[in-house]
Amino acid sequence: AKAAGPGNTTIFDISMHDEVRHRIEMEVALRRALGDNQLWVAYQPLIDIDSGRAIGAEALVRWVHPEQGPISPAVFIPIAEDAGLIGMLGDWVRQEALRQLSAWRADGTVDDDFYLSINVSAKQLTVPTFPLVVSAEMLQFGVPARCVALEMTESVMVDGTGTSARTVYELRELGVKLLIDDFGTGFSGLGYLRRFPVTGVKIDRSFVVGLGADDEAGEIVRAIVAMSQALRLSVIAEGVETRVQRDALAAMGVVIGQGWLWGPAVAPAEFVTSWHASGTA
Ligand code: C2E
Ligand code: CA
Ligand code: CA
Ligand code: CA
Repeated sequence: AKAAGPGNTTIFDISMHDEVRHRIEMEVALRRALGDNQLWVAYQPLIDIDSGRAIGAEALVRWVHPEQGPISPAVFIPIAEDAGLIGMLGDWVRQEALRQLSAWRADGTVDDDFYLSINVSAKQLTVPTFPLVVSAEMLQFGVPARCVALEMTESVMVDGTGTSARTVYELRELGVKLLIDDFGTGFSGLGYLRRFPVTGVKIDRSFVVGLGADDEAGEIVRAIVAMSQALRLSVIAEGVETRVQRDALAAMGVVIGQGWLWGPAVAPAEFVTSWHASGTA
């Protein structure tokens, strides 16, 4: 928002006023939501395409506003980032997810290698103590590092300050998996991928959508797979909705998929019924 200066008269038009007010209201509501049990974590299976079994899950935060009902994270995560709330929100989601994973490991819902993939915003990686905090939490919940994946977008890799790079290295030293989320939509190329100690990429849904219909999408996925194999990175395809897409991905050598074809993100109880250790629904 622009600041009012002595020489300026009209700063906001009406619609901008509304937009700013809406953001401030959201920010206040989100602050309250954090302390008020309005947030929960949904889990979407990561599927071994060949067997149809869940080898892991992505933790996705959910907010049910008392009056407005469910609000999409695509709406409130950017607001949390701008408002300086993403650290607190991210801490909450990660701790909740680790607590859940610990319980599932203890009661046999998941096997010993099942991992939870947790979204990390670029801002969180600028905090130098972040790896230490994650490490302490894994100890606290008795979750081994191989059972934790952190998803970050390509923007992390182009941040010039160096703090994020150090943070990413320290996280990798802990032994957690590091995945590039929405891969293909950002600016990072091969060079960045080689310089950062990532363990895998998640192919953005926009490329998966076109599979079977659009040659260009197929070519892009093929290129990502070839590059990932050369760099020994794992590949997860996001947003798989149809069998045509699944079969095209499998034919190109993608082994892990995520999407509505197998199942959406669901509450923990439903995850257990659908994906209990035996794997298939
Ligand atoms: P994302 O990390 O790319 O997560 C994947 C999104 O795609 C999720 O939306 C998921 O529900 C949706 N999705 C999964 N399968 C399909 C499919 O087959 N088709 C379609 N059309 N969509 C599918 P969701 O849960 O609404 O989350 C939106 C975004 O919000 C996430 O995108 C992520 O960027 C952010 N987000 C969610 N939870 C967190 C969190 O705990 N921390 C942070 N920093 N960001 C989060
Ligand atoms: Ca993600
Ligand atoms: Ca994604
Ligand atoms: Ca996304």
